[in-house]
Amino acid sequence: MPKRIIFHIDVNSAFLSWEAVNQLKKGSNIDLRTIPSIVAGDQSRRHGVVLARSIPAKKFGIITGEPVIKAVRKCPNVTIVPPSHGIYTQCSNAMTELIMTITPDIEKYSIDECFVDVSGLRLKYGNDFLSIARTIKSRIKKELGFTVNIGISENKILAKMASDFKKPDRIHTLFRDEMKEKMWPLPVSELFMVGKASYKKFKLMGIETIGDLALSDASLLEERFGKYGRMIWEYANGIDDSPVQTEESEAKDLSNEITIGFDITDKETARLYILSLCETVGMRLRKSGLYANVIGINIKNSEFESYSKRKKIQTPTQNTNEIFAVATELFEQVWKRDPIRLIGVATTQLQSEPPIQLNMFDSLSKQSSNVKKLDESIDKIREKYGNKYLVRGSLLNLNKDCNS
Ligand SMILES: [Mg+2]
Repeated sequence: MPKRIIFHIDVNSAFLSWEAVNQLKKGSNIDLRTIPSIVAGDQSRRHGVVLARSIPAKKFGIITGEPVIKAVRKCPNVTIVPPSHGIYTQCSNAMTELIMTITPDIEKYSIDECFVDVSGLRLKYGNDFLSIARTIKSRIKKELGFTVNIGISENKILAKMASDFKKPDRIHTLFRDEMKEKMWPLPVSELFMVGKASYKKFKLMGIETIGDLALSDASLLEERFGKYGRMIWEYANGIDDSPVQTEESEAKDLSNEITIGFDITDKETARLYILSLCETVGMRLRKSGLYANVIGINIKNSEFESYSKRKKIQTPTQNTNEIFAVATELFEQVWKRDPIRLIGVATTQLQSEPPIQLNMFDSLSKQSSNVKKLDESIDKIREKYGNKYLVRGSLLNLNKDCNS
């Protein structure tokens, strides 16, 4: 038995399933999952792309990420629903909360994916991790109304690869001794972190399958691609010791990032994700009684290139709006207009002494103490009832903002 047992839990056609669940809850008698349907931005706009599709829509050849106009050409009767991020956040949090009743060792990886380290449950369940997976899967289906795939392995990379095997509503294992049979025959483009650009380069080098990559010379790959080359070779060989990052282990660096299930291409959507990240970071700072001197933003694009920018601020802060103001300013300076896959907000150079108020005007300090009170009461409500009950106004309107 391997030392660790890691699950990767991935919601099947998340945005579409969540929309379907929501419509059924509201009394609709059509389950979007059973008809050709897609979640997409405004189709009258050039940028409207398919964000999610039902399985019947897939049968018409509709692909996630393609323009809506193309999808409609493939299936003129397709039902189109707009994205509604408020619902996604609610469903995502409900899933996290359900898993938390089984184990706290959970890392939210993106809005519809998480890693769970179940090694600690061995005392209770022995090595029967399959039955733990079955319990999680069937409870999500029964209590929340949607299906997930669960990948099981000894590390995160293999668990993630496993959850991507046959869908929906399935459990797959991919331990290192199953790698050659189950993962190596797949095209190298299926490997996590292989973007379009590197896929083309691999092809030119004669690397077609994940197995080809695994068996190629690691030092050569490193020479050619740098650190990325070494990492990708390790992934192809199922090597990965990265831990499941629970909220607690993350709290030390007081940063938060989110991998997005689709590419963000517009500023407004990006700003809303940044706001929700700032909410979490601000809350953690306040909870730990810390103030940040430096605020940073991290971006990873759809080709998995990362870039970031930091700024030292004048007065250390733990206030969500102040962090948000700096984070968006940095975002606007640094964003290269490329499709975004991951956004992170980081706070560093933390201090525990409150900053000296330099405001000369009473009204200003009064204002800032009011802001502090607002943040505190938001934190209290969240702690008591969970994140889903309080979402800043602009997040609720994401749907509208997306299309404007
Ligand atoms: Mg998914």
